[in-house]
Amino acid sequence: MSNRIARFRLRAYKRQNCRCCYCGLPLVPASALSSFANKLGISLSRAQALMCTAEHLEARCDGGTDIESNIAAACSTCNQRRHRMRPAPSPDAYRTIVQVQMQNGCWHRWVLLRATGHLPAEKVQQQLTWRAEAH
Ligand SMILES: [Zn+2]
Repeated sequence: MSNRIARFRLRAYKRQNCRCCYCGLPLVPASALSSFANKLGISLSRAQALMCTAEHLEARCDGGTDIESNIAAACSTCNQRRHRMRPAPSPDAYRTIVQVQMQNGCWHRWVLLRATGHLPAEKVQQQLTWRAEAH
């Protein structure tokens, strides 16, 4: 990634209060990934789900450029999943899709949702019930 895009990503990260523009979870800068993983007791690859990336709002393959207004800060998960969709949904449409999945507790792994305080209460209850029945 060019220094210019890295600079735009950093500005977007600050402008967005260090949160992903789609799922709203706290973003983890690449330099802080291992301490984040250690703190949660999870693998580095799992922690990378929340790594701060430069999101091209209009994808490069759709003609989007590297200008600052086209760069937002998104977690690695949201960034990759959006651009796997063909055609990629607009940023607003995609945010709606992600928010619905977040409300259902189905977007990020539970360990990340729990650690960031975003696991829906009914999902916590379901998990506890399931555990109680399983043991
Ligand atoms: Zn996200």
